[in-house]
Amino acid sequence: MSGITCYSTSTIQSLNPTCPHSSSSSIISTFHRPQIHNISQSTRPRIHSSSNSRRRRRMASVTAVNAVSSPSVQAEVGIQNQQELKKGIADLYDESSGIWEDIWGDHMHHGYYEPNSSVELSDHRAAQIRMIEQALKFADLNEDPAKKPTSIVDVGCGIGGSSRYLAKKYGATAKGITLSPVQAERAQALAAAQGLGDKVSFQVADALNQPFPDGQFDLVWSMESGEHMPDKEKFVGELARVAAPGGTIILVTWCHRDLSPSEESLTPEEKQLLNKICKAFYLPAWCSTADYVKLLQSNSLQDIKAADWSENVAPFWPAVIKSALTWKGFTSVLRSGWKTIKAALAMPLMIEGYKKGLIKFAIITCRKPE
Ligand code: SAH
Repeated sequence: MSGITCYSTSTIQSLNPTCPHSSSSSIISTFHRPQIHNISQSTRPRIHSSSNSRRRRRMASVTAVNAVSSPSVQAEVGIQNQQELKKGIADLYDESSGIWEDIWGDHMHHGYYEPNSSVELSDHRAAQIRMIEQALKFADLNEDPAKKPTSIVDVGCGIGGSSRYLAKKYGATAKGITLSPVQAERAQALAAAQGLGDKVSFQVADALNQPFPDGQFDLVWSMESGEHMPDKEKFVGELARVAAPGGTIILVTWCHRDLSPSEESLTPEEKQLLNKICKAFYLPAWCSTADYVKLLQSNSLQDIKAADWSENVAPFWPAVIKSALTWKGFTSVLRSGWKTIKAALAMPLMIEGYKKGLIKFAIITCRKPE
């Protein structure tokens, strides 16, 4: 696992990593208060870090952003129209979920691998479960039986793989939301078939306007759906709103790299690459891990921790491409429709993005105050 960064929640205007694990060299334990800029001068996020340049180099992902969910970043890349975006997402998953399930099973997320380990194709489904377990461990949920969740929301649930897994593991109830009617229906059918019909339920609903009252869930789980959200501020606000006091939020999502202190934005080449990916996967503009941390802080969330797991997911896309190139994969993709074909053709771009250090696979966890 890459370095963990912990943040205090005391101020909205600064990111203060406050990690207790200071003995490990890969973990950052101290951080100088970032310089605060007047955000009205620019809508672009400026990123600041320690004045100690050696530490700054070590702290690739430990940076501070002064503008929360900067509109200029939101507008620079991605699909602009939110209704069009939602329809595109729903159609893409309606079209492609069946093939994915057929080849990969019921988890539509990256696997978690030890860096540089040799990977068997047969290991990938296990790696997807490992992703869930590692995320729970990262959020300290596996250590303490007192923290066992009893009510879970799965935001962007796919065909409900996480909901069912977590409901079984904890004996909890789970509610999943997705934009895709096909996914919601399939998720419910699988739950019924597994005897979980009374524990888990699924519906078509928007993560930006969740159909739940405040403070409902002691685990708010979002596994690889955040990248689809066109308004990150609203998204994080909803995650915080539906979390119960003392509840845990686990957000695992694609981010772009944090900007360095001297940068105003990503480079034109980087934006171009992300734009291509956005079009293929129906994504709006991306943000960085630091942007998310800032948003969590602005919602007064506590015990914020973040890590870059890009290395741990490296074998995933090559494996997906390999499976798409089998006869079964190839013919299924061709049969399923243009949106799926477009997404399949864009898969090498994800590998390129990771290799260039542009795309980051981030885990960010926190707790809602009691
Ligand atoms: N978390 C699942 C699926 C990830 S795929 C898993 O790990 O298997 C991304 C999911 O996010 C899809 O189910 C898609 O419908 C959902 N999604 C994207 N935007 C959404 C939105 N605005 N509201 C609700 N769900 C959304």
